[in-house]
Amino acid sequence: MNSYDLLAARVGTPEAQSLAERLTAWHDATVMHRRRAYLARSADPCSADCPCQKASYYWSEARRVFGVVAADLTFLRALADPGTDGSAGAQSDERRRAGTG
Ligand SMILES: [Zn+2]
Repeated sequence: MNSYDLLAARVGTPEAQSLAERLTAWHDATVMHRRRAYLARSADPCSADCPCQKASYYWSEARRVFGVVAADLTFLRALADPGTDGSAGAQSDERRRAGTG
Protein backbone atom coordinates (compact mmCIF):
# COMPACT_ATOMS: atom_id res chain seq x y z
CA MET A 1 0.00 0.00 0.00
CA ASN A 2 1.49 3.34 -0.99
CA SER A 3 0.90 6.78 0.45
CA TYR A 4 -1.87 7.50 -2.07
CA ASP A 5 -3.77 4.37 -1.06
CA LEU A 6 -3.30 5.24 2.60
CA LEU A 7 -4.77 8.69 2.13
CA ALA A 8 -7.64 7.28 0.08
CA ALA A 9 -8.36 4.79 2.85
CA ARG A 10 -8.43 7.62 5.39
CA VAL A 11 -10.80 9.67 3.26
CA GLY A 12 -12.86 6.61 2.46
CA THR A 13 -14.73 7.73 -0.65
CA PRO A 14 -14.83 6.04 -4.06
CA GLU A 15 -13.54 9.25 -5.61
CA ALA A 16 -10.51 9.19 -3.31
CA GLN A 17 -9.85 5.59 -4.25
CA SER A 18 -10.10 6.38 -7.93
CA LEU A 19 -7.77 9.36 -7.57
CA ALA A 20 -5.29 7.22 -5.63
CA GLU A 21 -5.14 4.77 -8.54
CA ARG A 22 -4.48 7.56 -11.02
CA LEU A 23 -1.90 9.14 -8.72
CA THR A 24 -0.11 5.82 -8.34
CA ALA A 25 0.15 5.43 -12.11
CA TRP A 26 1.28 9.04 -12.45
CA HIS A 27 3.85 8.62 -9.70
CA ASP A 28 5.35 5.53 -11.35
CA ALA A 29 5.48 7.24 -14.73
CA THR A 30 7.09 10.32 -13.22
CA VAL A 31 9.71 8.36 -11.31
CA MET A 32 10.64 6.44 -14.47
CA HIS A 33 10.76 9.62 -16.52
CA ARG A 34 13.00 11.34 -13.96
CA ARG A 35 15.23 8.32 -13.59
CA ARG A 36 15.72 8.13 -17.36
CA ALA A 37 16.43 11.85 -17.49
CA TYR A 38 18.93 11.49 -14.67
CA LEU A 39 20.73 8.62 -16.36
CA ALA A 40 20.78 10.49 -19.65
CA ARG A 41 22.10 13.60 -17.82
CA SER A 42 19.76 15.63 -19.88
CA ALA A 43 19.76 19.29 -19.00
CA ASP A 44 16.13 19.72 -19.94
CA PRO A 45 14.44 16.34 -19.89
CA CYS A 46 10.88 17.59 -19.77
CA SER A 47 8.65 17.77 -22.80
CA ALA A 48 5.19 19.12 -23.32
CA ASP A 49 3.62 15.75 -22.60
CA CYS A 50 5.89 14.41 -19.87
CA PRO A 51 4.25 13.44 -16.58
CA CYS A 52 5.69 16.46 -14.74
CA GLN A 53 3.24 18.62 -16.66
CA LYS A 54 0.35 16.92 -14.88
CA ALA A 55 1.70 17.54 -11.38
CA SER A 56 -0.21 20.80 -10.89
CA TYR A 57 -3.43 19.20 -12.04
CA TYR A 58 -3.02 16.21 -9.73
CA TRP A 59 -1.98 18.43 -6.84
CA SER A 60 -5.19 20.45 -7.12
CA GLU A 61 -7.20 17.25 -7.47
CA ALA A 62 -5.48 15.79 -4.40
CA ARG A 63 -6.24 18.88 -2.32
CA ARG A 64 -9.85 18.85 -3.49
CA VAL A 65 -10.44 15.13 -2.88
CA PHE A 66 -8.13 14.39 0.07
CA GLY A 67 -8.33 17.78 1.79
CA VAL A 68 -5.55 19.04 4.02
CA VAL A 69 -3.98 15.61 4.38
CA ALA A 70 -2.89 15.97 0.76
CA ALA A 71 0.03 17.93 2.25
CA ASP A 72 1.53 14.53 3.12
CA LEU A 73 2.09 13.89 -0.58
CA THR A 74 5.49 15.51 -0.67
CA PHE A 75 6.54 14.10 -4.03
CA LEU A 76 3.46 15.45 -5.75
CA ARG A 77 3.63 18.74 -3.88
CA ALA A 78 7.29 19.28 -4.70
CA LEU A 79 6.69 18.72 -8.39
CA ALA A 80 3.57 20.86 -8.51
CA ASP A 81 5.05 23.71 -6.46
CA PRO A 82 8.80 23.59 -6.74
CA GLY A 83 9.14 27.02 -5.20
CA THR A 84 7.18 26.63 -2.01
CA ASP A 85 9.12 24.33 0.26
CA GLY A 86 11.34 23.42 -1.98
CA SER A 87 14.35 22.35 -2.24
CA ALA A 88 16.33 20.15 -4.36
CA GLY A 89 17.01 18.30 -1.13
CA ALA A 90 13.40 17.36 -0.67
CA GLN A 91 13.19 16.18 -4.23
CA SER A 92 16.21 13.95 -4.02
CA ASP A 93 14.85 12.53 -0.79
CA GLU A 94 11.70 11.65 -2.62
CA ARG A 95 13.64 10.17 -5.45
CA ARG A 96 15.48 7.91 -3.04
CA ARG A 97 12.31 6.87 -1.32
CA ALA A 98 10.49 6.31 -4.60
CA GLY A 99 13.33 4.15 -5.82
CA THR A 100 12.81 1.70 -3.00
CA GLY A 101 9.36 1.08 -4.11
ZN1 LIG B 1 9.28 15.98 -16.94
